[in-house]
Amino acid sequence: MARRLAAGNWKMHGLRADLAQVEALCAAPQPEHCDVLLCLPATLIDRAARLAQGRIGLGGEDCHANTHGAHTGEISAAMLKDAGASHVILGHSERRADHGETDALVASKVLAAQSAGLTAILCVGETLAERDAGRTLEVVATQLAGSLAEGADPARLVVAYEPVWAIGTGRVPVEGDILAVHAALRADLVQRFGAAAADIPLLYGGSVKPENAAQIFALQDVDGALVGGASLKAADFAQIIAALN
Ligand code: PEP
Repeated sequence: MARRLAAGNWKMHGLRADLAQVEALCAAPQPEHCDVLLCLPATLIDRAARLAQGRIGLGGEDCHANTHGAHTGEISAAMLKDAGASHVILGHSERRADHGETDALVASKVLAAQSAGLTAILCVGETLAERDAGRTLEVVATQLAGSLAEGADPARLVVAYEPVWAIGTGRVPVEGDILAVHAALRADLVQRFGAAAADIPLLYGGSVKPENAAQIFALQDVDGALVGGASLKAADFAQIIAALN
């Protein structure tokens, strides 16, 4: 069975002064029942890792598909690892939308991240138009298959189901829809990886808050959450973590 995971995504938020939130999260009693991770802007990872001293994990929010080279402004998986990251978010819908990232590119990034020793948090999710057209399961299955190349390692993989229309909107799918997508993802992963698929954490992401976390975490095949806005304040994120038992 997959280990529970509460992962925060600070996106393009956070100056050094905000590391006080990392300190506050680390000072809170650490749960035994789940792993806690903050995916931060690259500028903060090294400092956060020094503060955390292993009490929580740190992750990046993206990495380049190549190991190094003439790619001005980019960051490699090895650089994230060197700064203290254990994980990296890949294929987030904001990157797919803002940077035109394709499944094929995301697949290369997953391999690059895993080769550098990072665990890839692979994001999939449908747009509102795709949901309204009844295409959710098809879209998510296509993204999953296309974002996992030959050689992808199930032991260094987390999959996050993040409906695009639920991110930052306060809207959350009905329970039956989350259940259906997570069951389909698990089935696809079993087909792909066999027994190892049972240990891949499946996260739900999209407007998870202290108020709705327990209800979402009670669902079958929801092993945790990828949390954006509510991870910025340690007090809010700590409540979500506590709900994940
Ligand atoms: C996210 O960006 O991954 C996310 C889930 O954001 P929010 O929790 O703010 O909806």
